[in-house]
Amino acid sequence: MSTSSAIQWHDTRLAAVRKWESACPYEDFIDDGAIEEALSTQANPDKAHTLAIVEKARDNARAGAMLSPEDVAVLANTQDRDCWEAIYDAANWIKRAVYGNRIVLFAPLYISSPCVNNCAYCGFRTSNDAVSKRTLTMDELDEELAALVGQGHKRLVLVYGEHPSSDHEFICETIARTYSVRRGYGEIRRANINAAPLFVDEYEAVRASGIGTYQVFQETYHHETYRKVHPQGTLKGEYRWRQFALHRALEAGIDDVALGVLFGLYDWRFELLAMLHHAVALEKAFDIGPHTMSYPRLEPALNTPLATRSPHVISDEDFKRAVAIIRLMCPYTGSILTARESPAVRREVMRDGGVSQMDAGSRIAVGGYAQMEHEHIPDRQQFILGDARSLDEFVYDLCRDGYLPSFCTAGYREGRTGANFMPLAKHATVNRFCIANGVLTFKEYLLDYASPETRAIGERVIHTYLEWIDANVPQLADKVRQNLEREGQNQRDLHF
Ligand code: SF4
Repeated sequence: MSTSSAIQWHDTRLAAVRKWESACPYEDFIDDGAIEEALSTQANPDKAHTLAIVEKARDNARAGAMLSPEDVAVLANTQDRDCWEAIYDAANWIKRAVYGNRIVLFAPLYISSPCVNNCAYCGFRTSNDAVSKRTLTMDELDEELAALVGQGHKRLVLVYGEHPSSDHEFICETIARTYSVRRGYGEIRRANINAAPLFVDEYEAVRASGIGTYQVFQETYHHETYRKVHPQGTLKGEYRWRQFALHRALEAGIDDVALGVLFGLYDWRFELLAMLHHAVALEKAFDIGPHTMSYPRLEPALNTPLATRSPHVISDEDFKRAVAIIRLMCPYTGSILTARESPAVRREVMRDGGVSQMDAGSRIAVGGYAQMEHEHIPDRQQFILGDARSLDEFVYDLCRDGYLPSFCTAGYREGRTGANFMPLAKHATVNRFCIANGVLTFKEYLLDYASPETRAIGERVIHTYLEWIDANVPQLADKVRQNLEREGQNQRDLHF
């Protein structure tokens, strides 16, 4: 923590956080012993029982129900190859049934890296002098946004360190700036944020600035591991403050909240069950589950030994298994696979894990998009990215594999959020809108940003999905075609 004012800000805030914790109205929903017991009780699951759970997950996809912790423990312990094939098959089927065969695209935008915390796995931790930290000025933010909008992005996740220079007022200012940028037809239509836990009144201000989804990841739900990697005496060391960050956000009226873990800190199977408990706790308190789940893996970071030496580093195969189980256990939740992973891993996990959202053309150094030609700037990054493909290359590869790349942000702008969104996702009817809006936003991308090769393959993808709309949502078919024509006549942002 560099300056005395930052230290003072931290200490004052920590005292307020502890006061909130002492009066916390919520019960800790993570019982470590019960999770470990569920996993050990189901250590050798029966094949028929496992396959019955897979079938139950398919039924759940149309009823909006989640699996039980015991079910998830069975799936996570499965060693039978046939069962895994059935799980992957079901993950893919559920994803198509709920969301359609589209991938929603976004980019992360790192706004600030100074941080008062000292998380053992993070390149931005305050004690790590090997990484230089900085906060974008508004002019620099404009440059980053111009570069992102110029690629064709419409949806961002803005990422902030926890520091007085990036408090909730700064977040509001940057959100307003983000929505104000226009370059030709380019604009950001949905700004999600990934920011440290806030108080309810701070969330209210952030909500009023127009954010989309609010993400905060517990990193690990395992209490002892949490204490080990998040030093006591730091803000992030306060487990319950972070555990109920999404509760407070929902109290403040933020509709869409997103949870996640950092795989590699503790046993991935424990983290899966814990995420399920978190989703159940949110539903119980607010009748709104998580809008998305994220599951980044530990990646190397400059001067950060834990990132490569953790005893719980998760293999590629187990990672794919975990992602597929997330799809089965909570079918209505969006599933985000990030560019931390290599292109090969992403392709396989996307196919077998039922993934619905991915970032593309990503740069994670603060100020990195203004220097797009540098894939990595290690001394300005939190970790090292695995997939540095450009957005155009990524879109081409999605088309080659038969996916519909989507830049859709219509749900949020049409009020399909929170309690309005949940029934549509839970009853697998949201894809009626999603495919149509996906086609319309993809056409915008092809018209305005795509290379000739991507445009050619992309037009074939649009043709395929128009046929899908004809067959599955015939009431929208004429309107979609009319809107495609209007886009050809330079109209934009047409959506359902
Ligand atoms: S993980 Fe987040 S909170 Fe922890 S040091 Fe890094 S930026 Fe700060």
